[in-house]
Amino acid sequence: MSLYVVRTQRHSDCVLESTPCEDCIKTIRLLDLKKVVYIDSEGDVVCHRPKDLPSGNRSAGKRFLERTGLTKKNSTCLQTK
Ligand SMILES: [Zn+2]
Repeated sequence: MSLYVVRTQRHSDCVLESTPCEDCIKTIRLLDLKKVVYIDSEGDVVCHRPKDLPSGNRSAGKRFLERTGLTKKNSTCLQTK
């Protein structure tokens, strides 16, 4: 099975860089995937086997959570008893 990662600009069909983030890469490597296809920072469509993926960056969502202190470790609002 292959994974195709696509990210588009809001309100348009323009595609943007879709390199998986560090957390996605960890999950991808746990799955039995043959290849991962995405658009790199140069705008090129690239294909890698999961074990050959470059180290990922932190996602915008993760940076936001870290900046605001809403990381999983610090969050209590989602905990259930
Ligand atoms: Zn991700």
